[in-house]
Amino acid sequence: MADPKKEIYKKQARTVIKNLRRRNIEGIYCKDKYVAITTICKMIPKGSVVGLGGSTTIVESGLVDALRNLDIELLDRYKEGIPSAEIFKMRKRGLTADVFIASSNAVTHDGKLVNEDGLGNRVSSIIFGPEKVILMVGMNKLVPTVEAGIKRIKTIAAPLNSIRFGVDTPCSNTGICDEDNCLPPTRICNQLTIIEANAVAERISVILVGEDMGF
Ligand code: SF4
Repeated sequence: MADPKKEIYKKQARTVIKNLRRRNIEGIYCKDKYVAITTICKMIPKGSVVGLGGSTTIVESGLVDALRNLDIELLDRYKEGIPSAEIFKMRKRGLTADVFIASSNAVTHDGKLVNEDGLGNRVSSIIFGPEKVILMVGMNKLVPTVEAGIKRIKTIAAPLNSIRFGVDTPCSNTGICDEDNCLPPTRICNQLTIIEANAVAERISVILVGEDMGF
């Protein structure tokens, strides 16, 4: 018998892809991370400069490892032992890369992308700069509305990232967002973006993966 969760993901993806298309955003459904990695690698032209956004999804899925084997210039911020000054330079170069790869904190059923950054380089690159943006998104990040997407960021993504980064925020200490008492420099929720559509057709591709991935 087919896995009911996978069946639901497949059905939900049909609706989301249709709604993304109305917003000039391409949606592609892949049944698992292996198919997604192959699909993404095929989308990247040889010789491209490829930037990476901060994302657990692209690292833990094995996508970054696969990209390392392509004939491209990968701005590999995840390379072992890379100095933070170098990572900062890569973030800046990512703004004008040929291809930018990241995930999205949430995708709404009606096809909007909801993201929040600490520095802003990921959301900037998604909005403008790179000619192609590829977002690898586990189906666990689907939400019914923009409000639910923001809630997902404040209750799941940001607290888990706060703990992962080891920053002293209310959510890393209690597991609960306390936005009024969360201030820089430790606060990681700084630039909230809602992408409702894209002017350039298919500049952004959302690769929906039929499994739970990332934060
Ligand atoms: S605003 Fe602060 S406390 Fe709330 S989720 Fe973001 S980092 Fe955590």
